[in-house]
Amino acid sequence: MPATNQSNSRFDIIIAGGGMAGSLLAWCLAQARPEWQIAIIERQDCHSETVPASFDSRSIALAAGSVSLLQRWGLWPVLAANACPLEQIWVSDRGHFGKTRLTASEYQQAALGQVLEVEHLGNLLSTKLAHRANLTYFQPDFITAITPTTACQTVQLSSGAELTSNLLLIAEGGLSQSRQLAGFSMSSDDYQQSAIIANLALAQPHNNTAFERFTEHGPIALLPLTNQRYSLVWTVAREAAAELLALDDQAFIAAIQQAFGYRAGVFTAAGARAQYPLTLRRPDEIVRHRTALLGNSLHNLHPIAGQGFNLAIRDIQALLLALNEASDPGDYKVLRTYQQLREQDIKRVVWFTDALVRGFSNNSRLVALARNAGLAAMLLCDPLKRPLAMQAMGQGQPYAKY
Ligand SMILES: Cc1cc2nc3c(=O)[nH]c(=O)nc-3n(C[C@H](O)[C@H](O)[C@H](O)COP(=O)(O)OP(=O)(O)OC[C@H]3O[C@@H](n4cnc5c(N)ncnc54)[C@H](O)[C@@H]3O)c2cc1C
Repeated sequence: MPATNQSNSRFDIIIAGGGMAGSLLAWCLAQARPEWQIAIIERQDCHSETVPASFDSRSIALAAGSVSLLQRWGLWPVLAANACPLEQIWVSDRGHFGKTRLTASEYQQAALGQVLEVEHLGNLLSTKLAHRANLTYFQPDFITAITPTTACQTVQLSSGAELTSNLLLIAEGGLSQSRQLAGFSMSSDDYQQSAIIANLALAQPHNNTAFERFTEHGPIALLPLTNQRYSLVWTVAREAAAELLALDDQAFIAAIQQAFGYRAGVFTAAGARAQYPLTLRRPDEIVRHRTALLGNSLHNLHPIAGQGFNLAIRDIQALLLALNEASDPGDYKVLRTYQQLREQDIKRVVWFTDALVRGFSNNSRLVALARNAGLAAMLLCDPLKRPLAMQAMGQGQPYAKY
């Protein structure tokens, strides 16, 4: 973890939240604009024994477009050693006829994406950020008040420090306090579901195949990991999550095998389990005076389609583009460009993800028939499948140079 240095109080940019989105943004900005002084305010203590909240035992599916950006930003050559290519994805509805399959070869790609355990990204960013002269950490700390003036944002920290900057970028995750302090209004929708994650060992090779299976026990995603393991994301009703977490390993393996079936083979062992309550949170604005949101602070989604961090990577790409050649990073034109670049992509992905959750959580026979007809049609008809494949590969929104 980077060392804390609290000697400065005037910055070009303050990043609130040093998780996956905030740290990646800091790395990109520090390289793109070495002349700018950047502060990162992170609530969690970098010296504590606990794993940083953002870089826990989760794995993420990175779309091919996101991998290209990580490559461009100089991170992929190191991450690749611990990533597993995603060569095909099976989407099916257990107990019904509908299924569809996306393969990288159909789209002349080596892989639709890559699956990475987030701790590898955390370790790499932490090493890289520790050696950047233009970054200053305030940690463990958080913003308690924000005072806007025409030329800057002034923030008070819980430690008593007062910082000013041209631009405040908020990447504090879905429950961000600074977002509220900055006056962003929100809408939220609690799905009353939780995601249970665990790594599963397999009795046979997974052949770089991912599964998204909709079952009467909730959607189950299996993402292939290195060393013939699967990363499981099992969405269940909130009240069922505690029971599944309390099971011993053998009983848990039996439960997931029974719920998923044998399409992905036989599960032989399960690693540590964790749960995440699932709520859709969307602010009504992307930017306000000298302030912008990104990552989960801007779009806190259901993990069903594995889109949250892919969106965050495109937020960062858009910010780099908007800030390119800016002399004042908090200028109205910079913020307006960022908003314009992000609005449609975020709306589309939020809509698509929410529709998937609602469509596949619905047990009505009519809805089941419609979604199975849709899956079957996609299996037969490439033009119908293409949008799903493009989404999986994250190729909706390329912003040229950045
Ligand atoms: C089960 C699961 C599976 C997922 N799978 C995928 C996937 O396959 N593909 C994908 O693209 N996405 C996936 N996601 C989404 C992805 O994990 C998130 O998009 C990503 O974590 C967002 O990062 P973030 O930095 O915005 O937020 P967070 O990870 O929440 O980090 C926020 C950071 O801000 C800090 N913080 C919080 N409050 C404050 C404060 N007041 N002051 C200072 N610091 C603060 C926190 O300590 C933390 O370090 C998944 C999510 C879940 C839950």
